[in-house]
Amino acid sequence: QRRTLIAGNWKMNGGLAANAHLLEGLSLASLDPVGSPEVLVCVPAVYLAQAEASVKSSRIAIGAQDVSAHQSGAYTGEISSSMLADFSCQYVIVGHSERRAYHHESNELVAQKALQALRSSIFPIVCVGETLEQREAGKTNEVVVTQLRAVMDVLDDGALARIVVAYEPVWAIGTGKTATPEMAQDVHAVLRATLAERSEFAATKVRILYGGSMKPDNAKELLAMPDIDGGLIGGASLKAIDFLAIVNAA
Ligand code: 13P
Repeated sequence: QRRTLIAGNWKMNGGLAANAHLLEGLSLASLDPVGSPEVLVCVPAVYLAQAEASVKSSRIAIGAQDVSAHQSGAYTGEISSSMLADFSCQYVIVGHSERRAYHHESNELVAQKALQALRSSIFPIVCVGETLEQREAGKTNEVVVTQLRAVMDVLDDGALARIVVAYEPVWAIGTGKTATPEMAQDVHAVLRATLAERSEFAATKVRILYGGSMKPDNAKELLAMPDIDGGLIGGASLKAIDFLAIVNAA
């Protein structure tokens, strides 16, 4: 009953010419409307207008990679959720591990960003994931549950049902190492059980994506797991042929 979501996270890649090429490649693909996955590209914010214009007549949704925790005001360099909404942005990634690591984003800040996105009717894609050190110390479940609970704490049950969660083990991002389908499924099941403690409805509604070196050749077996409802794809989302192969594997 959960519609599969295949989301590309371009990160800080691209440019006007490269984006035009990639977006055209994606838009031309005939995505089967019946029973097909939802397809999303999360682009650098300065290219939202380009993406909006270019996917207009296709079924591709557009998203951003970050949002301010504040509504408006003296926050130099930040972009508000209402600004994202002005460009038909339907989703925004919050709490990506790169932002947690390089910009010191706390669980509480990530929670405020998720809340702010929902206020503009944008679905937050809340990223959680453990480092290699944490996995080896047996702390994976504790880490991801703490990250998810911080967001759950600021949302009511209705809002909670509208988020997307992405499990992205830090050691699998951009490394070519993927979690095995079983390893990922175990964590996804823990995350869903955590949602269920608050709301059974949210637990059945919320899509939990896997991210971390998802490629055309490993997507099918990951996406076949019962609690893996899609993918958040970095490197392989930068080439239309690879990204579409993952869409077709779903
Ligand atoms: P890669 O697919 O390049 O490993 O990146 C995953 C990711 O961080 C998506 O947000």
